[in-house]
Amino acid sequence: MLELENICKSFGNKVVLDNISFNVKKGEIISLLGQSGSGKSTLLNIIAGFEKSDDGMMTYHHEVLFNKTYFCEPQNRNIGFVFQNYALFPHLSVEKNICFGISKESKSFQSAKVEELLELMAMQGMQKKYPQQLSGGEQQRIAIARVLARQSDLILFDEAFSSIDAGLKLKLIIQLKDILKAQNKTVIFVTHDPREAIFLSDRIAFIEEGQIIQYDTAMNLHNNPASKAILDLFGSDSFTFRSIEDVI
Ligand code: ADP
Ligand code: MG
Repeated sequence: MLELENICKSFGNKVVLDNISFNVKKGEIISLLGQSGSGKSTLLNIIAGFEKSDDGMMTYHHEVLFNKTYFCEPQNRNIGFVFQNYALFPHLSVEKNICFGISKESKSFQSAKVEELLELMAMQGMQKKYPQQLSGGEQQRIAIARVLARQSDLILFDEAFSSIDAGLKLKLIIQLKDILKAQNKTVIFVTHDPREAIFLSDRIAFIEEGQIIQYDTAMNLHNNPASKAILDLFGSDSFTFRSIEDVI
C-alpha cells in the first residue's frame, strides 16, 4: 500500500539516500534500523513530505504522493508522525494536546479517548498538566497518545521511545504493538535499537550509508545476515531472541 521507488537525496555533495526502493503492506509494522547518520530521519521526512526527494516516486493506496512532476503537501497526506524531539504544543494541556487532531469530535468522545490513551501510556490523571511539568519520557508518551487519537492509518515514529526509561520502554512497545495491530495501522518505526525493532515490527529494513542492505523478519536477519553490521547485531544468540518476559 505504501511504495517507494528510487528515492535519492543528497545534501550538497553528500549522498544521504542512495536509490532506496521498498514497500510496506497495509497493516504492517516495519522498522527502519540503522546507526546514527545512516539516513533514517531523512527517509521518514521524505515520506511525511517535510523533505523533498531528489528523484524517485512514492505511492500510497495506489495514489501518487510525489514523483518527478508532482508533490503532495504534508498537510494533505493524512500521515501521523511522532518526532524524535516530541514537539508538544507548550501552551496546551495534556488533554488538549492529545485532542488536537480530533477537536471536531464530541466532548464526551474526546475525554473518553484521552482517558483510554493516558491509561495505555501509564499516565492516568495527567489531563490538566502542561508539557513543561512533564519529564522528557512523559512528553514522548503524550506525543504517542496524540498520534494514536488521530484517524490516519499510516503512522511514522522517529526514535519516539528514545527518552523513555528502559524499564517501561519495552512494556510500552509491546502494548503499543497490540493497539496498532488492533486498529490495523500501517507503521514505519525508526530506531537505532535492535530490541525495539524486534519487539515492535513484522519486518526490519536495515539501512547502512543510505542503502537498505536487508529487509526481512528479525529471524531471517538472524539466520542470514547480509552484512557485518547485521551479523554483529542479530547473528549471536545474545539478548536477541530471549523471550519477551525475560526482557521486560
Ligand atoms: P539518522 O536519522 O539515521 O541518524 P539523518 O537522516 O538524520 O540520519 O542524517 C543522515 C545524514 O544526512 C547525516 O550525515 C546528516 O548530517 C545529514 N543531514 C541530514 N539532514 C541534513 C540537512 N538538512 N542538511 C545537511 N545535512 C543533513
Ligand atoms: Mg534520526
